[in-house]
Amino acid sequence: MGLEDFPRWMPEEQRDKLLQTRRLALEELAPVAMNGEPGRVNRPLLRALGEHGVLPQIFPSEGPVSALTLCLLREGLAGGSTDAETAFALQGLGSYPILLFGSAELRQRWIPPVASGEAVAGFALTEPDAGTDAGALSVRADRVDGGYRLVGVKKWISNAPDADVYSIFARTSDGGARGLTAFVVPGDSEGVSGEPLELLAPHAIGTLELDGVFVPDDHVLGEVDHGFSVAMRTLDLFRASVGAFAVGMAQVALETATGYAAERRSFGKPLREFQAVSHQLAEAAARVKAARLLVYDAAALYDAGDRVTKAAAIAKLYATETAQWVIDAALQIHGAAGLERGHILEHLYRDVRGRASTKERRRSSARSSPASCIARELLRCTRARPGRRGRTVPPPRTGRWPGSGARSACGRPPIAP
Ligand SMILES: Cc1cc2nc3c(=O)[nH]c(=O)nc-3n(C[C@H](O)[C@H](O)[C@H](O)COP(=O)(O)OP(=O)(O)OC[C@H]3O[C@@H](n4cnc5c(N)ncnc54)[C@H](O)[C@@H]3O)c2cc1C
Repeated sequence: MGLEDFPRWMPEEQRDKLLQTRRLALEELAPVAMNGEPGRVNRPLLRALGEHGVLPQIFPSEGPVSALTLCLLREGLAGGSTDAETAFALQGLGSYPILLFGSAELRQRWIPPVASGEAVAGFALTEPDAGTDAGALSVRADRVDGGYRLVGVKKWISNAPDADVYSIFARTSDGGARGLTAFVVPGDSEGVSGEPLELLAPHAIGTLELDGVFVPDDHVLGEVDHGFSVAMRTLDLFRASVGAFAVGMAQVALETATGYAAERRSFGKPLREFQAVSHQLAEAAARVKAARLLVYDAAALYDAGDRVTKAAAIAKLYATETAQWVIDAALQIHGAAGLERGHILEHLYRDVRGRASTKERRRSSARSSPASCIARELLRCTRARPGRRGRTVPPPRTGRWPGSGARSACGRPPIAP
């Protein structure tokens, strides 16, 4: 990666943070990651993330981490070890509901050990019959003296069943997404159990069974029946950084393919001298650059407090699609070599499919998919509602362009060649 790969506005210290994190991941974290048991929490890796000062950076003393820092760290980690990146991101996702909505006591109890990598955190929203449709959650939180009892099953929960603490979303009243409440539940609470699950790419994930788990009142996060906004506030912060993780993987694939095309010879010359190959590399480079610009732009907007819904969805959608495209192209350029078990591209190919999962993909038309989100925002703008800071968005012109007889299908003048 060179200077030209970064957004022009990004200061040197931020570029350095990304490059140093990438080096650290490659040299120090990847060897620890390789020794972990596939599909289970790798505690030495989490401790290494703490000791090398990566995890503590998402828990600054002054409050929540900036989206930009999150993106720099996630792209850097993904460039050196996707396992380290995953472990890092899940710690943040699992513990941010506590940091954003927990009492001082809960924050004091859980944030320092999560930041040092001593305690493992999990974010438990999905259930066997409620994934995309989070409003259909059926895990119950029944009111009892001094608190609640949680009953039901969560599924596809990263870090389950090994996590030390979970942010769990359960139903406290009827009314779809409006009747959910968020709770902090220690993993060793009576009535908590679970089983690991095996995925296409090794990922610490499993089920979480809640058999009448008692949760005291002071372990409620935010307000009762407002758990959905706890989940959304957490996911909003992390949204653009999903794109950063994807860009990190795509960058590695691009570099690997470029190196291979320079060395591998076919018909008496290096692969890169075949136009079909060099154009694939060129397109990959263009896509990675565009994805990175989108990601850091969305992160900067978020940090400035601007409305970021559309920008973050575009960044996440484009970056995850880019990662899949670039990794696939890199594999193609490698022929059989990239398919060998243990090859970096074989690993990335499975990882990107497993992580850029259901919601990220363009083909999904679910309400919560980035594509649906972008479309909703486009339509919202046509209604000229006031912007968040009082600015109004003018309705689009349709039909005739002022002063011109020309008309195009989308209501804009034809673009001059
Ligand atoms: C690697 C990995 C880690 C995960 N970690 C966690 C975690 O830590 N915590 C957690 O709570 N969950 C986690 N999940 C679960 C994840 O959030 C769900 O997989 C996701 O919400 C989709 O739910 P589902 O798998 O039940 O698919 P479904 O909701 O059953 O959807 C199946 C397909 O139908 C599509 N679809 C659904 N509704 C519509 C609609 N209205 N219109 C059009 N298409 C639709 C979906 O887009 C999808 O393609 C993880 C998943 C993976 C793969």
